[in-house]
Amino acid sequence: MFKAIRHFKLKSAKDNLNRLLRHRANLKWPTYLVLIALLVPLLFALRCGFFADWAFSFERDIWFYLSLMSFFFLGLSGLISFYEYHGFGPQEGIIRRGASNSPKVALTFDDGPSPIYTPQILDVLREKGVKATFFLVGKHVEKYPDVAKRIVDEGHEIGNHTYSHRDLVPATRATVVKEIKKAEKAIETICGVKPVLFRPPRGVYSNAVRKIILKEGYTIILWSVSTQDWRLVKPSFILKRIKKFCRPGSIILFHDSGALIKPEGGSRGHTVEALPQVIDWLKSNGFQITTVSSLIEETSFDRELAPPETQEALETF
Ligand SMILES: [Zn+2]
Repeated sequence: MFKAIRHFKLKSAKDNLNRLLRHRANLKWPTYLVLIALLVPLLFALRCGFFADWAFSFERDIWFYLSLMSFFFLGLSGLISFYEYHGFGPQEGIIRRGASNSPKVALTFDDGPSPIYTPQILDVLREKGVKATFFLVGKHVEKYPDVAKRIVDEGHEIGNHTYSHRDLVPATRATVVKEIKKAEKAIETICGVKPVLFRPPRGVYSNAVRKIILKEGYTIILWSVSTQDWRLVKPSFILKRIKKFCRPGSIILFHDSGALIKPEGGSRGHTVEALPQVIDWLKSNGFQITTVSSLIEETSFDRELAPPETQEALETF
């Protein structure tokens, strides 16, 4: 924790500003502006002792407390957004996007395979002549081996998304390693390929988890554009998000399985419906759709794509 804070402070202000400006599309600036506009007068009033002898009266004060609550949730959503697209603490070995000077973008699908939606997604990808990256859940690979095999047979890339889609924070080191290795074994046995890319469930990681994943030989892949299809949004919403946030080098997050809480069972009908329109829009706007590996091979100069920490640093964990 302290290391994370120290690292955050040590980064130069210019570096932080550059990162913010470069990915400003995904930052909720109005959130921060509202937050500052409300917080400053409130702190000033508190400092001047304005609320010192204020007795609570429901009718008079309810709006004050309601605004305080909405204010809190606005701040929380801003923090979550920042964590999702930038992270806190060291980011070595974590990739959220490719090079911004290349027209390449990557479509990624999490939580599968699903016997219902993955084949439909594969049909669309085949029809459009596009290759994607699937982050598979080991348990689902064992349950639907034919679908998992079809993904590889049709030339798509596969990544590890743990064995049972359990959150890696909080979890013991042994659990994290077991989730990685068990999924790896399932994928290797059924699909015949050893995955080298890893995406933690819900994109949640800690510095300790990050080090374990790197030590297991994986590159951590997150995303720079979320379609938010996990919350069953309409196909038009998915397309709107892509149009608004997609940039050269974007890694786009979809789901071909999963549910709001459970690792499978939710409907991905809207994702399937939106996909042809998304691909057509990307192509007609000059984007080249590719796998994550192909997207990141040219991006070694990007600060966020720096090679993992040295072996000694990993050993000290
Ligand atoms: Zn997931």
